[in-house]
Amino acid sequence: MPTKEQIEQIIKELQKILRIQDWDISFQYVSEAEARDLYSEDCSGGNLRYRDRAESRIIINTDNSRIKDVPDYWYHTLVHELYHIVTDDFICIIDDIMPQVRDEYVRKELNDTKNVKYEHLVNRLAQGFVNAYPVSNFDNILKGGNP
Ligand SMILES: [Zn+2]
Repeated sequence: MPTKEQIEQIIKELQKILRIQDWDISFQYVSEAEARDLYSEDCSGGNLRYRDRAESRIIINTDNSRIKDVPDYWYHTLVHELYHIVTDDFICIIDDIMPQVRDEYVRKELNDTKNVKYEHLVNRLAQGFVNAYPVSNFDNILKGGNP
């Protein structure tokens, strides 16, 4: 696993590529217990986003089995979390054009359906990016050489 400092450098590079340089993104490795406190479910990573301030807090759960067992899964997770920032405008537009989402009675069911579809969308985008721009592009950072 890369160090926190290496991940932060890679985030800066990915921000340029994804054109989200104006976001202030912090990063932390967390335990399973800390991830559950934040997300109440098993997850490899997460991203708490504050669109109005263009701030985000990305986590990777170091106890997650995919993070531990699948080589470079941390990279897929990191790209996935960054794609949430890229696609947030889209999901907010959906909220705007679906006023029934604001109705308490249907809010939970609609949000669950939307969230599952949204996660699949973000996953496909992240997988496409990882295929086109593999982690080997960051060997200069990960192997400690000069960029
Ligand atoms: Zn996600």
